Amino acid sequence: MTVKISNKIVGYRVKKADPEAAAEHQAPVHAETKPVEMNEYIERPDFLLGTTYKIKPPVAEHAMYITINDILLNEGTDHESRQPYEVFINSKSMEHFQWVIALTRVISAVFRKGGDVTFLVEELRSVYDPNGGYFKKGGVFMPSLVAEIGAVIEKHLKAIGLLESEEMSETTKRILAEKRAEFEASHTTATNDDKADDYPPNATMCGKCSTKAVIVMDGCATCLSCGDSKCG
Ligand SMILES: [Zn+2]
Repeated sequence: MTVKISNKIVGYRVKKADPEAAAEHQAPVHAETKPVEMNEYIERPDFLLGTTYKIKPPVAEHAMYITINDILLNEGTDHESRQPYEVFINSKSMEHFQWVIALTRVISAVFRKGGDVTFLVEELRSVYDPNGGYFKKGGVFMPSLVAEIGAVIEKHLKAIGLLESEEMSETTKRILAEKRAEFEASHTTATNDDKADDYPPNATMCGKCSTKAVIVMDGCATCLSCGDSKCG
């Protein structure tokens, strides 16, 4: 109901809180045992567990070392969880220094804000270098250095269980290994010099996993890396 006030207001009092509504807003009984969630006010412990990943992008002169440190929340309870806390990138190469430092600071800030940080992976991985990307050892295409940093973060988030890793089933792995052996037997181009990780030299790019691992056999294009297959 709307009440029009036509006189001057000469006094007021604050409406008393409805006792029933107040009870509803009261914290649950277990408030003190509520698990801590990542937030920017968590003080940085003196030591953190971390993992360092080495990448050797052809666009940088020297290798880059990406360190991601994690914080353990609710240690020793049922709600124990490992969350990424900060990222550092070290390299002898200085050509990318400025924006790499900026990127690591922004990513660390996002980590510390808490909430779902997995969106970072998609964002970084979809950055395309206008000079064209490059192939990593093993035939995986990286559209940019930023994307490779994103791939490292993805790997880390999978390792600590924040992202699901889409492991192939044993059956799929076996079928792919068989297909590969059959393909290599029928194409004598494969030599013993090839590293086990490399896919056949004439394999083409997979649209699904960006790996140069697609072979064509019996009219079907099969990716030896992720198993994606198209026939006809
Ligand atoms: Zn694939």
